[in-house]
Amino acid sequence: MALIVQKFGGTSVGTPDKIRAVAERVLSYKKQGNKMVVVLSAMAGETNHFVEMAHKMQKQPDEREMDVLLASGEQVTIALFAMAVKDLGHDAVSLLGDQVKILTDKMHTKARIKSIDTNLITDNLSQDKVVVVAGFQGVTKDDDLTTLGRGGSDTTAVALAAALKADQCEIFTDVEGVFTTDPNIYSAARKIDRITYDEMLELASLGAKVLDIRSVGLAKRYKVPLHVRSTFTDNEGTWVVEENKDMESMLVSGVTYSKNEARITLSKVHDVPGVASKIFTPISDAGIIVDMIIQNTRAGEMTDMTFTVPRTDYQKALNIVKDLDLGSDGNVSGSDDIAKISIVGVGMRNHSGIATTMFHVLAKEGINIQMISTSEIKVSCVIDEKYTELAIRALHDAFALGDDNLPAEE
Ligand code: ADP
Ligand code: ASP
Ligand code: MG
Repeated sequence: MALIVQKFGGTSVGTPDKIRAVAERVLSYKKQGNKMVVVLSAMAGETNHFVEMAHKMQKQPDEREMDVLLASGEQVTIALFAMAVKDLGHDAVSLLGDQVKILTDKMHTKARIKSIDTNLITDNLSQDKVVVVAGFQGVTKDDDLTTLGRGGSDTTAVALAAALKADQCEIFTDVEGVFTTDPNIYSAARKIDRITYDEMLELASLGAKVLDIRSVGLAKRYKVPLHVRSTFTDNEGTWVVEENKDMESMLVSGVTYSKNEARITLSKVHDVPGVASKIFTPISDAGIIVDMIIQNTRAGEMTDMTFTVPRTDYQKALNIVKDLDLGSDGNVSGSDDIAKISIVGVGMRNHSGIATTMFHVLAKEGINIQMISTSEIKVSCVIDEKYTELAIRALHDAFALGDDNLPAEE
């Protein structure tokens, strides 16, 4: 008998009929003798709808109340799912984040899990119930509701799998697995059978929303093998696992994009010790995560500083830097119509020239690169948002990612 955690995303539970179909699928595993813990998202579109409504109430909605609102979507699906299971003649119990005691910090709308109490879940499993837990939500030690950030149900699932020491953690979604690029953007994208935690971390952090980045971080840390697969077929999906030799010879595994960022430039700031700290301390104090940072070489006593922040934090970050007293008469500008295009692959560690190929491909398409950043296994370029699809296709073709997945020799 295995303990299996299965998570179903918004499109998988988008209608009552789909919820019933998911309940049937879960019961098929239960009937094989497995203990089933199910994590559900809100119905597709619900969370976006809540965000829209909140902005009609307040320009910058109060974050505590936002979480009370956002957490309601998952409450609907878990209750309907438990009813469907009961209607199919089995027992189930729906549990909210605060009932389980998924304890988080107080960072509303992007809270981090601190601990999970597994007692209530294991008690219910031992009573032969299907346990269905609301994804994406937790509770602070002061009993305030929190949410884990968009896409956070994946993180709930992996955290539960780790806490329960589950035998399997499966993420069911609307595509067949992790692809070489978003299959909804480029139909030549190919499903990857196995991908390393590190590559998946990069892909997720660079925009491949098929898995929430924090779920991958947790999976890596607690060695939870993840199976990403389709709700609508029985096909094998993608396994996210530890690295092995074959994988290392793949040069580039995927191309990804993110339209979730915005760029802020401070021109003419003093080039003296302490300036970066003055700029970035209030930004990090506000819980804003800065991604790329570029400081130009100095011209006279002055320099320019450009960085990116999540698009949702753009106005907040812009206001913070506008209020800074940096003792110079420089100005602040920014843009939120940028996209970050990235190529990822563990093979990059041992091969040169990958970044150059990327720059060459973008140049050939007439796409200007505004910022560049690299790590051991990725290269990212910020470009004008309107060229996103063009860049993805050109890079996917240039690195032959649609071809059969034979490890390249060079
Ligand atoms: P869910 O609601 O099930 O959590 P998401 O919408 O969060 O699903 O994630 C699935 C989507 O991720 C797919 O529909 C696809 O458009 C997108 N996606 C982006 N990059 C990739 C990729 N490299 N491989 C697969 N899907 C991707
Ligand atoms: N419902 C939440 C969202 O849309 C969480 C999730 O689906 O993972 O972001
Ligand atoms: Mg998701």
